[in-house]
Amino acid sequence: MRTVPMYLSLAMLSILHATTTAFVPPTSFLTKTTTTPTTSSFQMSKDADMTPEEREIAVEKALKAMTAFSNKYIANTSTKYCSDLSIPAVVIKGLAEHKVTLGAPLCPCRYYSDKEKEAKDGFWNCPCVPMRERHECHCMLFLTEDNDFVGDATEISFDQVNELSGGAPGIV
Ligand code: SF4
Repeated sequence: MRTVPMYLSLAMLSILHATTTAFVPPTSFLTKTTTTPTTSSFQMSKDADMTPEEREIAVEKALKAMTAFSNKYIANTSTKYCSDLSIPAVVIKGLAEHKVTLGAPLCPCRYYSDKEKEAKDGFWNCPCVPMRERHECHCMLFLTEDNDFVGDATEISFDQVNELSGGAPGIV
């Protein structure tokens, strides 16, 4: 098992930032899709009418749901979490944010020119097609035994996700 390099941890933090703002991640760790912008880019996000309190509750609920999903999917696929649990924590937080803003857990590790269209398309909704077909998770959420960064954990708690992803849900 190898220690997760600093650049990967920083990339994960930029994922969290990217799911909560319009920021485009500068790192090559994040891959680009080829989607062309469409009129759906201008659709209102699902949380547009929420108050900050309602949004916080919605993100907390989504965070619990995505944590439970991740633990179950790990068990079903015989995969494990990264040795640095802040990596899955940040990815799960990104998935939860997308669940609230888009209505679907769109992969948080990619840049999309039209997130609504991608979420509707479903290819990159977690678990994405590459994960379902080939056990390839470029977010490092679900790691196979041969991955250099695989740890021993097959469970992560809501509290761990909350703490390691950088604070209370919906506050970032
Ligand atoms: Fe992203 Fe796919 Fe991994 Fe889910 S399984 S976190 S969608 S790369």
